[in-house]
Amino acid sequence: MTTEVLPIGGTAPGTAQTLTVRRFGRPGARPKIYVQAGLHADEPPGMLVAHHLTRLLQAHADAGRITGEIIVVPLANPIGLSQRVMGSLLGRFDLANGINFNRGFPTLANAVASDVAVGLTEDPAANTALIRAALLQANASFSANTPAEHLKRMLLALALDADLVLDLHCENLGAVHLYTLTPLADRCLPLAALLDAKALLLASDSGGQPFDEACSRPWLDLERQFLFHPIPLACCSVTVELRGEADVSHALATGDAEALIGSMILAGVIDAPAPTLPAARCAPTNLADVELLYAPMPGVLVLHRTVGESVAPGDLVAEIINPVSGKVADLRPRHAGVLFAQESVRSVAAGRSVAKIAGTEAGRSGLLIGA
Ligand SMILES: [Zn+2]
Repeated sequence: MTTEVLPIGGTAPGTAQTLTVRRFGRPGARPKIYVQAGLHADEPPGMLVAHHLTRLLQAHADAGRITGEIIVVPLANPIGLSQRVMGSLLGRFDLANGINFNRGFPTLANAVASDVAVGLTEDPAANTALIRAALLQANASFSANTPAEHLKRMLLALALDADLVLDLHCENLGAVHLYTLTPLADRCLPLAALLDAKALLLASDSGGQPFDEACSRPWLDLERQFLFHPIPLACCSVTVELRGEADVSHALATGDAEALIGSMILAGVIDAPAPTLPAARCAPTNLADVELLYAPMPGVLVLHRTVGESVAPGDLVAEIINPVSGKVADLRPRHAGVLFAQESVRSVAAGRSVAKIAGTEAGRSGLLIGA
């Protein structure tokens, strides 16, 4: 294992923040796997998973079993982790401008299309190499001014040419669930089974330009644009939501790290016996068919169901209580599905999303993930 400590650009004079990068295997070897934790800096479960993953990977490296390249960024957002305000860690949005640290990544297909158009051939491997180089070059050429912009460019520079990208997140309260690009669903099913995921959510464009889509979507966009050249979906990128923010224990993190190791063995980057896949606990569903339950008024949130449970239309999932007026609002889904995430703060504002249900009928459109 080698460790790099990279300076994050754009910080104020006299200050410094750094990104720590751990590398296993041989640089440039294939397959390449990229794992990061804590892009939303107030989501600690992935950081503990990265800690245990590093330990497990070191053992495989010592035994000479890593045949490709693996990069682990155990703490992807030191900027967010430094945003403590009056005792609270605010690691989801950049306090400098309110932008979500996992939104607004560049859509790179347009930036590389004209460059790769002249070099595409009938050889999918050659096209893959051509596009990977172009994506890295395009990312490096984007201007970055704020520390967060520098950070986003640094993270993409590490991940863009990977075969498999795992971005570790969590919910406020949540069951394990995954987000990926729609045509990558089948490739993600083994990881979903290993992690005992309760939902696998699919979109070809969520509308928010998150990190995972910045890595995987260029391939889909270019495949659609250049129909007469073979362009594989060469980057399988997944946002992995590791339960709720307080679901932090060595038992959970060790199990999750072992699941990620299993996915790396299946990807062919670690030469070890393939894991036995447990039965899948979820089927892929469209992100557009996630039903969100919103607080219709401010008040005290009372939860009636637990994440991971199936709910039926009309089930009482939560209540909002106004303790002054005595008014009570029931929150009931219109469609059946799996309750995979809930709000953890029990005093909510009007309009707050307090429950997410993976179903098959909601049929949302427009922006499919929150700002
Ligand atoms: Zn997150």
